[in-house]
Amino acid sequence: MDGHVNGTVVLKQGRAKPALQRHPWVFSGAIERIEGAPTDGDIVDVRDAGNNWLARGYLNRQSQIVVRLLTWHQDQAIDADFWRRRLAQAVSGRHRLAGDPSTTAYRLVHAESDYLPGLVVDRYGDWLAVQFLTQGVERWRAEIVSALVSLVTPKGVYERSDVDVREREGLPQRRGLVWGEEPPEHIEIVENGHRLPVDIREGQKTGAYLDQRENRARLAPFCLGADVLDAFSYTGAFAVAAAAAGAERVTLVDSSGPALDLARRAMALNGYQRADYVEGDVFSVLRKYRAERRTFNVIVVDPPKLAASSREVERASRAYKDVNLLAFQLLQPGGILFTTSCSGAVSADLFQKIIFGAALDAGREAQIVGWLSQGSDHPVALTFPEGLYLKGLICRAL
Ligand code: SAH
Repeated sequence: MDGHVNGTVVLKQGRAKPALQRHPWVFSGAIERIEGAPTDGDIVDVRDAGNNWLARGYLNRQSQIVVRLLTWHQDQAIDADFWRRRLAQAVSGRHRLAGDPSTTAYRLVHAESDYLPGLVVDRYGDWLAVQFLTQGVERWRAEIVSALVSLVTPKGVYERSDVDVREREGLPQRRGLVWGEEPPEHIEIVENGHRLPVDIREGQKTGAYLDQRENRARLAPFCLGADVLDAFSYTGAFAVAAAAAGAERVTLVDSSGPALDLARRAMALNGYQRADYVEGDVFSVLRKYRAERRTFNVIVVDPPKLAASSREVERASRAYKDVNLLAFQLLQPGGILFTTSCSGAVSADLFQKIIFGAALDAGREAQIVGWLSQGSDHPVALTFPEGLYLKGLICRAL
């Protein structure tokens, strides 16, 4: 690939501030005109209305985000060496995790927040799972894969670009081995010292919810002797953490049968034979528990992204409130609600208000005893506050 600059995007008068402040996105509404004949995926320069050079990035007119910016240095070329250096920077930011034998899976590249817009790379032991989310990084896939291979020497690189956002970019979904050896059906990773089987071919996201790793460690101190409910358990990573921390009883609820099958394997791998696996809708299962007066000491509520955009915030807020209200009603006095939201469109502030409303309507006094966020391998660039998406609270109900 050659990365010569193939056009210039000129911004409207008064619309240069985000680019000047190094925000990586140029929206269509900020653009006056595009000069030259660039094709989508090409490298373009961005200039302000007075023709001053601002930044350089890659173009896609099919997206609302027409340019994703890569550099603010006019003499920096976007070539194979550029990608290699950016990747090396992201990899070196994880050197502490890389040297920690109690965790073998973590995010290596967190897209915009690692100054690599559109690119996600997760490490699962000897395999890498990659997502090329935009035309701009799709163009450089060969260079990116080869740089990753030389930087981390994996056994194989598996692509999981089977996500809807690719279609908004005008790209087909894609999945499969891109380099090296096929991964086994289940890669066994270690997280906080616990063994977890991960299916990077068929699993959700790139196989696991790595962003919750530090939160799983935060759950442990509440679990000794506890009756724990893991709602939206997926493959049971919270349940394993709870069992390892001495939970008396663990109940997992998820709507996905395959996820629960993997959860059974995960528990068995760590030597925990007894747990209850409930396949079903969390909202109905929790209502049934309420009717049966079943209670718990600790409840983890980790729903999927309920608001995909700001338009869905109101509906999502009602769902977050409903499920957390039910959870408060099922908690024993002194019980712990460990609740999260991975919807970027729901702010930490709003989430706290939702949890307040849920406690109030459940008739429970509750205190916040901890704040949760995404792990350090999912950083947030200060120039890109949108990178913060996971938030949560640890609440004690009286
Ligand atoms: N806690 C998990 C991640 C949860 S992701 C972990 O730490 O790995 C959200 C999960 O919710 C997915 O496994 C999905 O299958 C499940 N899910 C989505 N909607 C659901 C519903 N209404 N009832 C039960 N499970 C649901």
